[in-house]
Amino acid sequence: MTFNTLVTGYADPCLHAGGLYIGGKWEAGIGIPVLDPSTGNTLAEVPDAGIDDAMRAVDAAEAAAAKWRRTPPRQRSEILRRWFTLMTEHAEELALLISLENGKALTDARGEVAYAAEFFRWYAEEATRIGGEFRHTPSGAHNILVDHEPIGIAVLITPWNFPAAMATRKIGPALAAGCTVILKPASETPLTAYAMARLGEEAGVPPGVVNVLTTSNPGAVTAAMLSDPRVRKLSFTGSTGVGRILLAEAAKSVVNCSMELGGNAPFVVFDDADLDAALDGAMVAKMRNGGEACTAANRFYVQSGIHDVFVERLTSRMAALKLGVGYDPETQCGPMITTQAVEKIDRLVAEAMSCGARATTGGAPLPGSGYYYPPTVLANVPTDTALAHEEIFGPVAAVYRFETEEEAIRLANDTEYGLAAYVYSRDIMRAMRVGRGIETGMVGINRGLMSDPAAPFGGAKQSGLGREGGITGILEFMEPKYFAVEF
Ligand code: NAD
Repeated sequence: MTFNTLVTGYADPCLHAGGLYIGGKWEAGIGIPVLDPSTGNTLAEVPDAGIDDAMRAVDAAEAAAAKWRRTPPRQRSEILRRWFTLMTEHAEELALLISLENGKALTDARGEVAYAAEFFRWYAEEATRIGGEFRHTPSGAHNILVDHEPIGIAVLITPWNFPAAMATRKIGPALAAGCTVILKPASETPLTAYAMARLGEEAGVPPGVVNVLTTSNPGAVTAAMLSDPRVRKLSFTGSTGVGRILLAEAAKSVVNCSMELGGNAPFVVFDDADLDAALDGAMVAKMRNGGEACTAANRFYVQSGIHDVFVERLTSRMAALKLGVGYDPETQCGPMITTQAVEKIDRLVAEAMSCGARATTGGAPLPGSGYYYPPTVLANVPTDTALAHEEIFGPVAAVYRFETEEEAIRLANDTEYGLAAYVYSRDIMRAMRVGRGIETGMVGINRGLMSDPAAPFGGAKQSGLGREGGITGILEFMEPKYFAVEF
């Protein structure tokens, strides 16, 4: 692995991992450049694992599995708790690393580290509370005993937009449940994953319990791991398109899948909403991570009575944001992850504008090095453009006008996605009614941020299968076993 001085210059050397992490050993290598989205410069080069490396990671996970599942929950818990503490102690370096390789503003990166670490604390607590079940059969003649066992070796695949939190949201429950794992982070943001593995090592995670590999050939490498009968779980966070491919791949060996996929969140504001609160919520729901979040508000539906004032005030807030290098402490909106991401946003916005949408601020990419798209508000957006149906994944707020509650629900549901939705109204009965009518796994009622390690995170429709976090998240890594017991 090689690093440029931007990386080596700031951080504790313990965060400079040494390559693939397999069976507790660091294996040097290069092959995948990691770019700084703020400048386009190369930050580092990480190893490019092939199928053989992946199979060695499965061997390592297998070698550690029996001992780890027998390790007392209290001990597993304490290791996770130490990992939480180490992440917290290294929060500033981790945040800088995230900002460097992902581009997000430092404030967002700090928020991510705190959120990510909490999954280790939460699952340190949950590790000691794994429940079972006992009941009588309806006849009263027999007994039903249900135990939960670790499901087995888990392959964890994570996206670039939350390089720390998407990893801890999987590693935490997997380790708490007693599973060993192979983490494949996104190639755009591998440094955070490797740095966290370094901290896990320091926290006392035994060799082979967590393995990390980066690859430029995720399709073949993942297919090889999923076809190995020792791998019993795939936990994936990423786009719906890749999720579909992986579900088909996992079907070949009937591997259990948890899928956290894409979103197209509606943000519904009624005339009676607290406008200041709705604007505060809109800014968080839209601009956390510069809009590169699966829960990002993608479609703002605003009732006619307050539509114009909402657009006007949202425009001034968006226009006031400071766009710049992610790790500049003044920055409020960093660059997008890649030049392709900027091109996609540009395509969606340009098409909407050619169909009648009007940019009240922003509306075109910025020239120069780095991958910048300015905070943008679009009004008069037609509901039949791609902008209304695809994930924007950028700082573009598309605003649509609606008249009735029924229309708001119909528009909100006009998508294959079903991850998150937001509803703002002072009438809590209406807000709950609309929230129930919207087909998503999560609804923010008068709140623009819903992520919480203690809550079940996940989507309906084509936004996913299963839930992460909360008290059920650990069950995604466990197999229920029913004992029919006579006694
Ligand atoms: P992506 O689907 O392109 O990639 C996600 C991961 O899958 C990466 O590690 C990538 O290397 C890997 N991958 C790509 N092709 C693969 C293949 N054929 N086989 C195996 N692995 C493969 O997604 P992305 O661009 O990294 O992330 C953005 C997407 O993630 C958005 O759609 C966003 O909504 C979604 N996301 C969802 C959640 C959630 O909790 N629902 C959270 C964060 C991001």
